[in-house]
Amino acid sequence: PPFPDGVPARAVVDLDAISDNVRALREHAPSSDLMAVVKADGYGHGMLPAARAALAGGATWLGVATAAEALALRAGLGQHVPVLVWLLTPGAPFADLVAADVDVTVAAPWAVDEVAAGARAAGRVARVHLKVDTGLSRNGVATGDLGAVVERLAALEASGEVRVVGVFSHLACADEPDHPSIARQATAFDAALGVVEAAGLRPEVRHLANSAATLTLPDLHHDLVRPGISVYGNSPGPLLGPPGRYGLRPAMTFQARLASVKQVAAGEGVSYGHLYTTTQDTTVGLVPVGYGDGVPRHGSGGSAGPGGPIAVGPPAARRVLRVAGRVCMDQLVLDLGPGATDSPGDVVTLFGASDGVPHGADVPNAQDWADAAGTISYEIVTRLAGRVVRQYV
Ligand code: PLP
Repeated sequence: PPFPDGVPARAVVDLDAISDNVRALREHAPSSDLMAVVKADGYGHGMLPAARAALAGGATWLGVATAAEALALRAGLGQHVPVLVWLLTPGAPFADLVAADVDVTVAAPWAVDEVAAGARAAGRVARVHLKVDTGLSRNGVATGDLGAVVERLAALEASGEVRVVGVFSHLACADEPDHPSIARQATAFDAALGVVEAAGLRPEVRHLANSAATLTLPDLHHDLVRPGISVYGNSPGPLLGPPGRYGLRPAMTFQARLASVKQVAAGEGVSYGHLYTTTQDTTVGLVPVGYGDGVPRHGSGGSAGPGGPIAVGPPAARRVLRVAGRVCMDQLVLDLGPGATDSPGDVVTLFGASDGVPHGADVPNAQDWADAAGTISYEIVTRLAGRVVRQYV
């Protein structure tokens, strides 16, 4: 779509890409259901539009982290699919979640009583997923607590307050092929399923696979896969290679308009701290986005290393330049080179989908920014700030 008038920056979210990515992910896990993870505002893409696009592509479940996300999803979605919320704290609105038919997670012993109280208050059976810690040492019932938690859940199921619908866990190193923790966690998960079944519980869905496991570890797909980052068309990490390898394409394109273009002499320092110094008489372009928009300050460029990549110029003559000097709160600078013909108002692209234009300089993607900033693509897309206008296509 056209760049909106008077706006410094925009993120175009391609909802068809999200639907197509889910279709591709279903082909990677043909025997499993698929839960699209739409927490953190759909990894920055917009929770409700991302959720609807994922459902259109064949997702059968939706997953979020917080109670507020789950309730907003239920209220705004306009169609009924199972929704799971997994990161709850004591005092969470269990009654509201149960009343809204949101599946709630028991990930710690305290949650058992609160779920039961929520079910009684809501006057209906709470649908529960038990999250077990199989080696991430993060959210999930510890091995030492598992037997007691399972017994209490079995008693609550017998008395009609809860129904244990699912058992799940999360992998620590699925994006590192052959990491020894993967097999250890898989074994620990099977052992936990054994404990659950020995207590007479018969969960409908067992789930363990994030994006990396969905794409590369078919033995761990179980009944349901739970991809997040790949739904948005990004690879889980550099070791797994680019998203195109898996039939995925980035859904988000982040662009800005040059605010000014001017000449700077050789030997001048650029931006705060003069991290970058011009080596020749040159042209600099001002890009009106910074860390206040979600551009990582660690993507600054100069003496400390190359900055984040930005595509400049029309597709047929595109060049990818590196941020010159510090990324500021609202702006950053590009060294466009001597004699550059770029103009104020020209659109530059920080990251987006490859457009396959055969001229050598492809559009950078979120992983390229992650590499420049020492982080992961997840943080790049999720941190895009609210003030960046979203355009949905
Ligand atoms: N499942 C759980 C419990 C998560 O916390 C997350 C995200 O961190 C996911 C699935 C999705 O992971 P990914 O984005 O790596 O696919």
